[in-house]
Amino acid sequence: MSYVFAAPGQVVLPVAGSTDLFPVRRVYCVGRNYADHAREMGHSGREAPFFFGKPADAVLPIADGAAASIDYPGRTSDLHYEAELVVAIGARGAAVPAAQAARLIWGYAVGLDLTRRDLQAQAKQQGRPWDVAKGFDHSAPVSTVKPVQATGLLEQAHLWLDHNGQRRQDGNIRDMIWNVGEIIEHLSGYFALAPGDLIFTGTPAGVGAVGPGDTLRAGVDGVARITLTIGAAAERPADGA
Ligand code: MN
Repeated sequence: MSYVFAAPGQVVLPVAGSTDLFPVRRVYCVGRNYADHAREMGHSGREAPFFFGKPADAVLPIADGAAASIDYPGRTSDLHYEAELVVAIGARGAAVPAAQAARLIWGYAVGLDLTRRDLQAQAKQQGRPWDVAKGFDHSAPVSTVKPVQATGLLEQAHLWLDHNGQRRQDGNIRDMIWNVGEIIEHLSGYFALAPGDLIFTGTPAGVGAVGPGDTLRAGVDGVARITLTIGAAAERPADGA
């Protein structure tokens, strides 16, 4: 028996202080998890956390302190950045109470939840799924994973993003509406979590558009920082071609 074509490669992230690699299984994301960002998107009040996903191969690994580049994605003219703390899961768990969620945490990273905001707005208006807005190729740049043994359980940490050298996002993970334990409790009620899962935990205020030629730098202090440059729009065949 053999595969009919080469099996897809395993997506991996570097691990801080090690040559080992973190194999990625699934990517989950939390929507509107900072009050100031929820407000800038036109929402208020504490709603139950809600989730969406990205394909694992949308992850673009960027080593701590390193830089990577992507083409400006097609089908959008409003590509947004969202800097987020990413929780890396290292144990199985379903319906895990928040008080026991720490045992699932393998480590932390910083990630960018890149978003085609125009398509997301359209999807919201039409009651359609967010996949084309959130799950496109390279939509999830993620840093090196730092093991929880090295950081301790993170309850507060500065989360920031610079766009072309200007500070645009300047938050702290202690300001999440739902903290990591609560996120894991809710998410593991919907999906059995397993080693290799990544959870993007939401973004603070200050999201904005990024264009070809721009540079983004993002970090969670004590965890990692990454740089991403946006290249020219990729060549796409015209509609109907
Ligand atoms: Mn997000």
